[in-house]
Amino acid sequence: MSDPKPPTAEAARGEPPTKFDFFKTIQAYLDEASDAVGLEPYIRTILSQPKNEIIVNFPVRMDDGTVRLFKGYRVQHSNIIGPFKGGIRYHEDVTLDDCKALAALMTWKCALMRLPYGGGKGGVKCNPRQLSKAELQRVTRRFFFSLGNNIGPDFDIPAPDVGTNSQTMAWAMDTYANTVGHINKQGVKGVVTGKPVASGGTLGREKATGQGVVHCLTEWAQEKGFNLEGATMIVQGFGNVGSHTATILSRLGVSTIAVGDHTGYLLNPEGFNPHKLQDYVATHGSIAGYPNGRVISRDEFFATKADIFVPAALENQIGVKEARALDVKVVAEGANGPTHPAGEKILLDRGIDIIPDVLANAGGVTVSYFEWVQNKRSESWTLEEVDEKLETAMRRAYHDVVNMARAKRLPLRIAAYAVALNRIQAVYRERDIFP
Ligand code: NAD
Repeated sequence: MSDPKPPTAEAARGEPPTKFDFFKTIQAYLDEASDAVGLEPYIRTILSQPKNEIIVNFPVRMDDGTVRLFKGYRVQHSNIIGPFKGGIRYHEDVTLDDCKALAALMTWKCALMRLPYGGGKGGVKCNPRQLSKAELQRVTRRFFFSLGNNIGPDFDIPAPDVGTNSQTMAWAMDTYANTVGHINKQGVKGVVTGKPVASGGTLGREKATGQGVVHCLTEWAQEKGFNLEGATMIVQGFGNVGSHTATILSRLGVSTIAVGDHTGYLLNPEGFNPHKLQDYVATHGSIAGYPNGRVISRDEFFATKADIFVPAALENQIGVKEARALDVKVVAEGANGPTHPAGEKILLDRGIDIIPDVLANAGGVTVSYFEWVQNKRSESWTLEEVDEKLETAMRRAYHDVVNMARAKRLPLRIAAYAVALNRIQAVYRERDIFP
């Protein structure tokens, strides 16, 4: 099958999904889960807003000699369990409210995974695809210089997210190491995670989020008596999370029959070779023009019959229309916040399972924690060690969530929040608030 025509921009955009207020949505889930576990009102009040919201504006000299001012955010939601932890996003639409929502999700995620971290998230309002590598480096260095000692290996530890990667983290760490943290050359490495391996990263971090999604799906399949061998999947977003989910699932016999990214959507009923598609995206920057697939519209993508849907792009992708169209058994949320509450209701009413973001994509921060521990101990673990520890952590979290859902008759998302809130509440009860 081949169609050399690149997907059109219109096909990529499709219709805008249902209106979505990300932070309010997360607050509503917090309320629902708080009721379910009887969270003390003062704890709910504290958790309903982030602890710190940092906004920086910083100048960067562009390749053409002009100076451009960039806006950056770092939201620190909670550090009651440990240092703030969460990614840095480079995207033109990033807002303070998105960072607030994403930072809160990190607090629940870290508590759910029993990691000694709270939650944070940040970003720079820019389109990294329109910047040269040199400009990206200067943006990253000025942004991290502006954050100064608002971050640190024992205070707030950023990581990659949409539009950033291990290279971004290498520049970020180097900037911190040459400014705020220039005394402690080893300990300073833990200021960010998701670094390249040679610069203090860990084996297994690149694929960790996708690997975690796959652990959740294997647990789900076992629970439902579903055979993954021969199953089909559609995936939206073919960046870090989407592409690794697809390649790892292919080893279990799952074929990816439709993919989409910011440029459009492709169908191949016989199954894509996810490794080749991953290589293609690494070279071309997107799936556009990949020869072994037929260009389809966003609507056709969402209506493609498959067993599994992995949203791995941005928030608010499954609105009412998409939830009605989806013809799958399970949605495993690789992305954060991909499902609108109205879409979620429709999916659940239709008997489609949802493995929620705080659980499904928690493999990334879990392996980030392994990286941070290795930095602290000046160790390098083998890939097998990392993989084994991740598998244990994901399986345990999956069952914690499912058991909570059964015990309290909750949807999996609210159950995941509930497990996290119980752990946070235990700490508040012991420590109370200062002073
Ligand atoms: P990435 O930048 O590597 O990839 C993002 C993908 O989404 C790209 O393929 C891009 O083309 C696609 N995309 C962007 N806009 C789109 C649109 N309008 N329609 C369709 N596709 C679009 O980012 P990533 O790290 O893979 O992150 C993806 C999601 O996973 C985000 O929600 C992120 O918060 C979440 N996540 C990432 C990690 C991680 O370790 N990187 C961990 C946990 C959660």
